[in-house]
Amino acid sequence: MSEIYDVAVIGGGPVGIFTAYYASMRTLKTVLIESMPQLGGQPQQLYPQKKIYDVGGQFAVTGAQLITNLLETDERFLYDRMLATTVQGFTATPQGYVIQTNKSTVQARAIIITVGNGPIQPRKLACDYDPHLEGKQINYFVSDLEDYRDQTVLVAGGGDSAVDWALEISHYAQQTFLLHRRSTFRALESSVQQLAHSKVQLLVPEIIKACQLTADQRLAVTYQTIKTTTTHQIIVDKLLVNYGMTADSRLLRKWQLQLAGPFIQVNSTMHTNLPYIYAAGDAVCYPGKERLITLGWAEGPIAVNSAINDLKITKAPAGHSSSLFN
Ligand SMILES: Cc1cc2nc3c(=O)[nH]c(=O)nc-3n(C[C@H](O)[C@H](O)[C@H](O)COP(=O)(O)OP(=O)(O)OC[C@H]3O[C@@H](n4cnc5c(N)ncnc54)[C@H](O)[C@@H]3O)c2cc1C
Repeated sequence: MSEIYDVAVIGGGPVGIFTAYYASMRTLKTVLIESMPQLGGQPQQLYPQKKIYDVGGQFAVTGAQLITNLLETDERFLYDRMLATTVQGFTATPQGYVIQTNKSTVQARAIIITVGNGPIQPRKLACDYDPHLEGKQINYFVSDLEDYRDQTVLVAGGGDSAVDWALEISHYAQQTFLLHRRSTFRALESSVQQLAHSKVQLLVPEIIKACQLTADQRLAVTYQTIKTTTTHQIIVDKLLVNYGMTADSRLLRKWQLQLAGPFIQVNSTMHTNLPYIYAAGDAVCYPGKERLITLGWAEGPIAVNSAINDLKITKAPAGHSSSLFN
């Protein structure tokens, strides 16, 4: 905990990413903290394939491509990133704040909160299972496709993510099954067509009822045909669950912030009611607020410049980026 950041940005959605980037451009020592193993927030997790038409200069960009573009930078504009790290709370100190996360603590002089609707988490399996199996036999994310090489894999889910991963994994795995509670998939038509001609074996309409470790460390998955009492069992090496994502705004209520419903009240300079704590993006409200990416991108720099003023960091006034290195 020795390092003291000028600013910690909490939440790595599109607004948090741009805010951290802008803070780094203004040469603040910056850390971006995100609860998911991957940056990108709603566009990355909820609608990666959907096209976005209201972001200037990026016509019909998909959610995933927007995030890839946002993460593009060079060595001049770097900031630290802490992934799979959920901020639980923060405590004021003479130097600023100590931020408590599920992993460690982080110290920062100022905080910018860009948490959207709260930590995005994968929707979990609806049956009881030993939590120790997570990250081993039962997974909610793919960190490395090589983990699936020559394995028997069951992918569960019916959306874009499940279909895309089943197709991708089928190039590595010995056998790939895709289980869904409906007989049709809610994925891009081209992906569904690809699925029909792939090696992926479909288990539909089925629902998972139980998962148990076998004596040889594999996973016995019991599933039931919808609207029947017929059950089946399959033994796999890995189960990848893609049931979509959920967000939980309850954490915000513990942070002593002035809220309006689930949103943080800010003024036109993105100040919250707490000193050296600012907020931006979907998490905030003020008269006229719209939950749009571009609006959040405007709020981020306002918050950063407010922090610079309040911290009395001597810097040139905010100017145009084109004048930065003249
Ligand atoms: C289906 C859909 C379509 C949309 N289409 C458009 C569109 O076309 N155009 C448009 O402008 N907007 C669109 N939006 C809205 C847009 O996605 C949001 O306005 C935008 O994502 C807000 O960005 P954000 O960074 O404020 O929040 P988010 O994208 O929600 O990101 C917040 C991040 O903070 C993380 N986080 C939360 N709590 C913590 C914590 N305690 N510790 C660490 N990390 C935390 C979350 O995991 C998440 O990654 C759409 C939204 C949806 C759901």
